[in-house]
Amino acid sequence: MQCTKCDREAVTHAAYAGTHLCETHFLRSVEKRVRSRIREDGLLPDEATPESPTTWVLGLSGGKDSVVLGAILQDTFAEDPRVELRALTIHEGIEGYRDESVEAAERFTEEFDVPLELVAYEDEHGVRMDDVAEDDPENMAPCAYCGVFRRDVLERYADELGADLLLTGHNLDDEAQTALMNVLEGDVAQIAKHFEASLGPMEDRAEQDAFVPRAKPLRDVPESEVALYAHLRDLPAQIAECPHASEAYRGEIKELLHGLEDNHPGTRHSILSGYEELAKLAANAREDVSEDLGECDRCGSSTARDVCRTCSLLSSMELA
Ligand code: SF4
Repeated sequence: MQCTKCDREAVTHAAYAGTHLCETHFLRSVEKRVRSRIREDGLLPDEATPESPTTWVLGLSGGKDSVVLGAILQDTFAEDPRVELRALTIHEGIEGYRDESVEAAERFTEEFDVPLELVAYEDEHGVRMDDVAEDDPENMAPCAYCGVFRRDVLERYADELGADLLLTGHNLDDEAQTALMNVLEGDVAQIAKHFEASLGPMEDRAEQDAFVPRAKPLRDVPESEVALYAHLRDLPAQIAECPHASEAYRGEIKELLHGLEDNHPGTRHSILSGYEELAKLAANAREDVSEDLGECDRCGSSTARDVCRTCSLLSSMELA
């Protein structure tokens, strides 16, 4: 099949856009979507100058999503003195799997000249996910613990590194799945929080002094295109899946969305754009959550409870 934009052979077909693209036009189209998203979400503030640059911390797992986002960010901003990009990689303590992805993150940051901070759950919280998965004192899935510990480490280190923005490599599939899960769970407060924390233009989000704002500039790019982009550019990304992956409900939603997208191309895009509008309305309709936040009695981090979720999980493991 020929490329829709030139006479070269197409490497991919995007049914939702009705296009076939060759390698050059495909790579450009992914980069263009990320740069447009950065512009539309107002991620680079007018106040950023060469004398007073904005600091962006990228959550770099070493998987394809964060590596692709890091490559496009560095290609775009490496020569721009208004932006300082740093990477933050977390080692969860998962034998084999995480060692490989940390190696990928190290190769990426060397190749693209991005300073890297490496943090391990074991050093921060005295736990390894391999042990948590074995003991599971709260009888939850491993990802439920891991998500809480990761959020805690990302927020604390983003703050310590002086981040103005914490960027993560969530792609279109990830975000459409989260949107659908939040709607199906009927959790309006969670939908509002999702918007305030990481969706939409920065100017529309409520001021949240307690947390570094998040951004997901890869969220217009489907997962399969992120994988193809990483492959075509031969980026150092880890492919293997975590042995503790346990989000069964997300797996069901993923399957559902694949089927819908096959039969009705563009479903993921329309879910996400409609959800962002709804989430913005939900966020505007409720009071600023930061007003309810206090400090954790144990670690001092921001929380709406007396003891934050991380400390209560650690305490249930008798490790706090
Ligand atoms: Fe953690 Fe679950 Fe991701 Fe594995 S799949 S790294 S346990 S959140």
